[in-house]
Amino acid sequence: MTGPFLSLAQIHNRLVLTARQVLRQHRPGTDGRCPVCRTAGCPVADAARDIIRTVSQVRLWRVTGQDR
Ligand SMILES: [Zn+2]
Repeated sequence: MTGPFLSLAQIHNRLVLTARQVLRQHRPGTDGRCPVCRTAGCPVADAARDIIRTVSQVRLWRVTGQDR
């Protein structure tokens, strides 16, 4: 269902959902290492956290008037 006609709110939601899913998959195990990348300080999880932090700070998404 992806296409060129997504609203900003839809793009925002997909970014957050994807980032959260990535964070779950790359959550460090009991040894502190990512089970996917097998490294401590997983760069994929860092990128996902960056995305979530960034989209939560961007107010642009809320002033379009289309998302609510
Ligand atoms: Zn990882």
